[in-house]
Amino acid sequence: MYSSILVPIDIAEEDLTNMVIPYVQTHAVLNTTKVHFLAVVPFHSFYTSLGLAYSAEMPSINEIRQSALSKLNEIVKQFRLPVEKIETHIADGSPKDQILKFAHKIGADLIIIASHRPNITTYLLGSNAADVVRHAKCPVLVVR
Ligand code: ADP
Repeated sequence: MYSSILVPIDIAEEDLTNMVIPYVQTHAVLNTTKVHFLAVVPFHSFYTSLGLAYSAEMPSINEIRQSALSKLNEIVKQFRLPVEKIETHIADGSPKDQILKFAHKIGADLIIIASHRPNITTYLLGSNAADVVRHAKCPVLVVR
């Protein structure tokens, strides 16, 4: 059915990841389906929120990117998909912008995203999920 599925992963939110696992497994059925997992590291807002510029004591952006990728690779194992079906990616910037940009880049034909952290009221979509639904050019499966 789908050939290129994008699954954005917030590496800090295990509960959100657990919600999407069965839906990703169900939709990645074709041998040819590729599942792209994307974790976005919001460097800029992180550093700015600390009121800091980049400095020598801080891990370099490459180190942060590397640890985020290792964590993402660990998380992805829980999906129990054949390795040849999956690709993992790291981007930095605003999650919603990067998710939409990456979906365009890989020609995603489905995005699977959790709607919000489970502890947040069920009426709302999280801000990333809401923007992805609003602006995506392909179907979006929102998991509640
Ligand atoms: P909440 O505000 O409740 O966390 P969000 O809309 O921000 O809800 O998150 C919902 C989904 O958005 C996550 O399950 C994930 O798919 C995606 N997402 C959020 N942050 C990131 C991130 N930093 N990198 C990749 N995907 C993310």
